[in-house]
Amino acid sequence: MAVDLGFVEKCESWRLGSRFFPSKAGGKPAWLDLKNIPGKSDLECEYCGDPCVFLCQIYAPYEDVAGFHRTVYIFVCKNVDCCRPNQSGNLRVFRSQLSRINDFYPAEPPVEQEDWRTDIDVSRWAKTCYVCGIFAPNHCGKCKVVNYCCRVHQVYDWRNGHKDVCGTEAKNSNSFLFPEYEIVVESDDAAKENAQQHELKSEEREIEKYNAMIQDGKAGTFQHEDVNDDLLQMANDEKDETFVEFRMKIDDYPDQILRYDRGGKVLYISSHSRITDVPKCPECNGDRQFEFQIMPQMLNFLNLKDVIKCLDWGILAVFTCKQSCIPKDKYIREYIWKQDIVQEETELKLNQ
Ligand SMILES: [Zn+2]
Ligand SMILES: [Zn+2]
Ligand SMILES: [Zn+2]
Ligand SMILES: [Zn+2]
Repeated sequence: MAVDLGFVEKCESWRLGSRFFPSKAGGKPAWLDLKNIPGKSDLECEYCGDPCVFLCQIYAPYEDVAGFHRTVYIFVCKNVDCCRPNQSGNLRVFRSQLSRINDFYPAEPPVEQEDWRTDIDVSRWAKTCYVCGIFAPNHCGKCKVVNYCCRVHQVYDWRNGHKDVCGTEAKNSNSFLFPEYEIVVESDDAAKENAQQHELKSEEREIEKYNAMIQDGKAGTFQHEDVNDDLLQMANDEKDETFVEFRMKIDDYPDQILRYDRGGKVLYISSHSRITDVPKCPECNGDRQFEFQIMPQMLNFLNLKDVIKCLDWGILAVFTCKQSCIPKDKYIREYIWKQDIVQEETELKLNQ
């Protein structure tokens, strides 16, 4: 079975509103359930306690009625020190699900127009943080207009422009979030057929390439340099066969930021660690299964140079409740597993 691939594309921001059920990266989360949205205590980084920031969301409905609408959200802590090799405490993943008949959206599909049902918005149901878009129980004590999820974000906003516009109609620009993109998932039959033909044709090429790589002692060239220079360096140093395989698998579509393969297998980036134990669903106590993974290519689109130099991952693998149990008016926490390409030396140093 073909794996669905996701790519980021620039897109007008109105198209990424909740009412259009988007898959997206960066910006604020487009909440599915508009009322019971997660807050600071749900999103606290295990290491520093700050709320994790929205990274991306994937709209992935199940066939049955309960999962008519279904979105999975990933958040990550922006603090450099919290990014630790092969540890996932700086990440959070949530699943939201609605039946076709629900409190927020019409039963009929949305009309793709900017002015269509702009009233379907989280602001009607819940207060959200001006900085990060999660549930906001607090507001600015002076103007009482702007809401915040926590003190850290209130202070951040005050220092980054709110003090100049507090009490006025003006809004300061918000550069806290990752740049916003639509995630386009190639899942129609045509794309699959293309991919399959591609795969057949590419099998021979892959063998050739593999031989060439072995000779060069490197694993080809990525399109984006920053992340991929590192990857190449690692591959050179390690001669990791798992990595070579990883490179070959993504070679036809090197810009893929998402591999969606519900019930399928993780495409590991390194042979250094394996998922051994996925905790059960906290809601129904049922098994979880692999659903999708975020690829390191996404790092190229996050504008990390100025903001946070050190945010990094090899892959982010997401495991969700196999039966996609029905949440009762809440976002259900799912399981995320980070794998990095780490050299032995680094691992040793960190363990000391
Ligand atoms: Zn943190
Ligand atoms: Zn916030
Ligand atoms: Zn204010
Ligand atoms: Zn469950």
